Amino acid sequence: MPSRQGPLKAIVLDPAAFREIRDIALAGYRARGRQEALGLLYGQEKQGGMLALRRAVRYRSRATHSRVDYDEYALRRRARVLAQRLGLDYLGMFHSHPDEDMIGHSYDDCERFVSDTDSLIDGVVVLWRRDRRPRLRSHTALYHYDSPNGLVFGLRLYYVDSDGYVARAKLTLGDS
Ligand SMILES: [Zn+2]
Repeated sequence: MPSRQGPLKAIVLDPAAFREIRDIALAGYRARGRQEALGLLYGQEKQGGMLALRRAVRYRSRATHSRVDYDEYALRRRARVLAQRLGLDYLGMFHSHPDEDMIGHSYDDCERFVSDTDSLIDGVVVLWRRDRRPRLRSHTALYHYDSPNGLVFGLRLYYVDSDGYVARAKLTLGDS
């Protein structure tokens, strides 16, 4: 298990992991009432303050358009079982904000992450229709336009910096 607090230079996402995150968010978006989706993130700590995000796995939960509910204990147990099965470290969770172009943590998301000491990182993926103007590119967000669905995806990942504050991680796509 990597340490929660410390310098994090960047998170390198395997393209497959980014696709998994999108697919999980899209499944929620397509569900009745456009539900939030929840997933678990796996990877490894690399040298030089880099974190490799290699897999994202959907976590089934009771969801609505604006929140997800889950049993804390059951989720922790599932996270550990999957870590063993994948041969990777559990890094944290992500959830989606369907049909929203404000990309990032809400106040509640931030509070929950601060109290969740098992998670090294926390992610938010937003999905919105192409006819709504996407935000500009940023080194702390990854975007993808999915033309068959006419949807823009945006992803942000957060960590706790060495002063104990929740900060946006620098994200890159690539083989790590
Ligand atoms: Zn949220």
